[in-house]
Amino acid sequence: MKQCLLCEKELRENHQFRELFLLCHQEEWICKECKESFQEIGSIHCPRCFKEKEEQICKDCELWEQKGNIVHHEAIYRYNESMKEYFKRYKFEGDKLLGKVFSRRLKTELKKYKNYIVVPTPISKEKKQERGFNQISTILDDAKINYSDIFEKKDGVAQSKKTREERLKTSQHFRLKGKVQKNKQYLIVDDIYTTGKTIELMKQLLTEKGVKEIKTFSIAR
Ligand SMILES: [Zn+2]
Ligand SMILES: [Zn+2]
Repeated sequence: MKQCLLCEKELRENHQFRELFLLCHQEEWICKECKESFQEIGSIHCPRCFKEKEEQICKDCELWEQKGNIVHHEAIYRYNESMKEYFKRYKFEGDKLLGKVFSRRLKTELKKYKNYIVVPTPISKEKKQERGFNQISTILDDAKINYSDIFEKKDGVAQSKKTREERLKTSQHFRLKGKVQKNKQYLIVDDIYTTGKTIELMKQLLTEKGVKEIKTFSIAR
């Protein structure tokens, strides 16, 4: 019997039967209730970073602009309690199978970026050893999305263990390990966007290499 990956409730058979009948086999990984506990970002959001309830360019994005960086970010879901719980299990408890939960949705969302080179946010070597996988490339692999793994993370204190202020202060903690094609468009994909600092550091490295068009994407915001 197939179970929901999140709450272990039995996934109903008729679901699969209908898909079989329609000849579009889309495997379900979570139940309807769990699916509905993830909320999408509403239509009112900052046009640049998807921060909710901002009708115009938000303060953070204005600050980024003053530093010479125009934010081009898109996100799907709110970072609500269910999302926090999901990432806790997926990342910190290292349940790799949970990568499947958002893979199909990510595939659909990234269709509009088909001319972009997709780049996952890297994790440090120590994190990789501890967890065993990179949370973003795992989702991209599950979704069968091609990507270019050009960044690496310098080891150090985990971002999640730092305060917001400390995170904003930290200088560059990524470096390029792969070749950059400056005439291509890039899409950097991360799991959660908070201050934008992490993703903007990677963006900076690509800009320095002469890349003109860089957009960023996250599952949650
Ligand atoms: Zn469930
Ligand atoms: Zn914004």
